[in-house]
Amino acid sequence: MCSSILFTAEESETDSEESDVSGSDGEDTSWITWFCNLRGNEFFCEVDDGYIQDDFNLCGLSSQVPYYDYALDLILDVESSHGDMFTEEQNELVESAAEMLYGLIHVRYILTSKGLAAMLEKFKNYDFGRCPRVYCCGQPCLPVGQADIPRSSTVKIYCPKCEDIYYPRSKYQGNLDGAYFGTTFPHLFQMTYPHLKPQKPSQRYVQRVFGFKIHKS
Ligand SMILES: [Zn+2]
Repeated sequence: MCSSILFTAEESETDSEESDVSGSDGEDTSWITWFCNLRGNEFFCEVDDGYIQDDFNLCGLSSQVPYYDYALDLILDVESSHGDMFTEEQNELVESAAEMLYGLIHVRYILTSKGLAAMLEKFKNYDFGRCPRVYCCGQPCLPVGQADIPRSSTVKIYCPKCEDIYYPRSKYQGNLDGAYFGTTFPHLFQMTYPHLKPQKPSQRYVQRVFGFKIHKS
């Protein structure tokens, strides 16, 4: 029976049309807010500025991301002078470097207590979608990576009820790099908020032919 509805928050699974990909032109919108509101980026939470400004948290990332300094300035909305000397093509490279840098910061941030709390809000809001399995009864899911190395696989959703992983429903979300969420996140999330762990599914699908269960042999 599907009786477990966890939250009363309104569903937010509809693919919204409002975000456009043309650029961060809103004067009072930070790059981070703009980025997290792009279509397909719904799985990302907004990382605290203070977290990004602490060099300790970014340890090792400068060697992984091209145009690191420019990308970091872009993420933090720091006015930089490179705009004049860069070609359009270089600016695009900085933009995509900023996306990668944000992802690599994000995967670390969501394992901190602030990050876990931010993801809890999103979980309660069904931002990560629900399990497609019928007997999971619309269980809200969590994002997970199958690898921690960038560009090895796209993000999946993990259902805490059937403990399996699925492709996200939206093809835009399906293109996100799984390494921006990592292999640890949903499991640390469950250890942090054990009261949210659902009971195992009580029902399994039974195969029937003309109404009769199929014999094991
Ligand atoms: Zn499930």
